Amino acid sequence: MDIKWSKRIEDLPPYLFAEIDAKKNALLKKGVDVIDLGVGDPDIPTPSNIIDALKDAADDPENHRYPSYQGMLPFRQAAADWYKERFGVELDPENEVVALIGSKEGIANTPLAFINPGDVGLFTDPGYPVYPTSISFAGGVPVSVPLYKENDFLPDLKAIPESTLSKSKLLFLNYPNNPTTAVADKAFFEDVVEFAVSNNILICHDAAYTEIAYDGYVPPSFLEVDGAKECSIEFHSLSKTFNMTGWRIGFAVGNKKAIGGLGKIKTNIDSGAFQAVQHAGIEALKNHTLGLDDRRKLFQERRDIFCKGLDAIGLAYTKPKATFYVWFSVPEGMSSKEFSSKLLEEAGIVVTPGNGFGDAGEGYARVSTTFSTERIIQAVERLKEVKF
Ligand SMILES: *Cc1c(COP(=O)(O)O)cnc(C)c1O
Repeated sequence: MDIKWSKRIEDLPPYLFAEIDAKKNALLKKGVDVIDLGVGDPDIPTPSNIIDALKDAADDPENHRYPSYQGMLPFRQAAADWYKERFGVELDPENEVVALIGSKEGIANTPLAFINPGDVGLFTDPGYPVYPTSISFAGGVPVSVPLYKENDFLPDLKAIPESTLSKSKLLFLNYPNNPTTAVADKAFFEDVVEFAVSNNILICHDAAYTEIAYDGYVPPSFLEVDGAKECSIEFHSLSKTFNMTGWRIGFAVGNKKAIGGLGKIKTNIDSGAFQAVQHAGIEALKNHTLGLDDRRKLFQERRDIFCKGLDAIGLAYTKPKATFYVWFSVPEGMSSKEFSSKLLEEAGIVVTPGNGFGDAGEGYARVSTTFSTERIIQAVERLKEVKF
């Protein structure tokens, strides 16, 4: 028997962090105290009111059976209520909201609903690697739209050739953006609506970081803009807002036909999120402001510590208004990979090389502030000792 992987797996791009991971593990084996600022996964626990809601719901046998595919109506209602309160956007919980097993699940399944083999799926670069992978898993052709610092890391949609647009079915966008930390205003979203409608391209907006913002900045939802519901679907995650990455709960909202398409795929692939976790999600959304300012304050404090460190060694960055990352330029004459290897070898610090998020990320690196303040202070001290 000769088991062969499918072409879709064989064709996956090489795992760019494999080398860094191997180096990190070798150093750990030697007893080096490695500070890993790579992954965006909050170090602080989920708020206790949410944990208590899960505990109660787990005791109830009602929740032990198969959940409904599209999510419990009370969960979808809580998502709709939160959208109304937070963004002023009206949603029909019956057919404009679907529960997700984490937003990654919804993002990965979306191209299956809208891409036929050979169709183009657009995605911004640098970006979340799931966008291009999910487009190719659906038989589509992923085409990147680069994000440049000169354009404040917003895509130049007018630069996409007509020959590409005519084959494109969807565009993945993500603001506040991971990894660049860029934000988008409503004027930009208005341009995107016009672009979507005139080219018949579904906008798939990944809104994972709308609640992680600083200095009074309030990120908008794509759906706040007129006409957005005609042309878009927006993904939301409870992971980043409520320190719930391990719980696997999120939701998608937006155009009824688009939500229905995603729902159809999900009906045939999964059987919904554990109802007890949905009950915990309801608790999170109903009391969404509980502790949120304190969490923001903590990430902001860490952001400022790291940015001061970058100032001290003279590396360029734009101070993030949102997300729990800092995106900065590597020293002149160095590649992202050379920079991150040097930091690991000479200072025992793991940062993510920017090109790991796509070709347009070359020349940058990303750190996450989801690690203890003490470790971030230590990392900055070590960083100052490295000679570039
Ligand atoms: C973390 C993250 C997600 C996924 O979040 P889950 O809801 O935990 O699956 C999606 N998009 C971006 C850009 C992220 O950084």
